[in-house]
Amino acid sequence: MKTLFQKIIDREIPAKIAHEDEKCIAIHDINPQAPVHVLVIPKNPIARIAMASVDDQAVLGHLLLTAGALAKKLGLEQSGFRVVINNGRDGGETVPHLHVHVLGGRPLAWPPG
Ligand code: AMP
Repeated sequence: MKTLFQKIIDREIPAKIAHEDEKCIAIHDINPQAPVHVLVIPKNPIARIAMASVDDQAVLGHLLLTAGALAKKLGLEQSGFRVVINNGRDGGETVPHLHVHVLGGRPLAWPPG
C-alpha cells in the first residue's frame, strides 16, 4: 500500500511542489498552520523518525539541509522559522511516511500545544 505522500511523489495525487531532487520532494501543506508551511518528504518511504536506521543517515541530513535551504528560498531567513517532525500518536503524526515540517511567516508559540 502506497502512502499518501508516495502517491504525491508518483504524481497520482496533485500537490503544490516547492522543491524536488533525487532524494526528496517538498510540497506546500494542504492545511497550512502558518503563512509558510511546507513538508520535506524523502522519496524512500521511512515510516517515521523512530523507524530510521543508520542506513538513512545521508537522507536524514539531506532532509534537514533541504528544509533550511527552502526556508531561505521562501523568505524566512531573517524572521525565523521552525522545523518539526511529528512521531506517533502523542507527537501528532497523521501520515506514516516521514516528513519534515517547515513553518514560518508568523511568530510561533513555545512550548507547542
Ligand atoms: P503530520 O500530522 O505530522 O503527520 O503531518 C501531515 C501533514 O500532511 C499535515 O500537516 C496535513 O495537513 C498534510 N497533508 C495531508 N494531506 C495532504 C495533501 N494531500 N497535500 C499536502 N499536505 C497534506
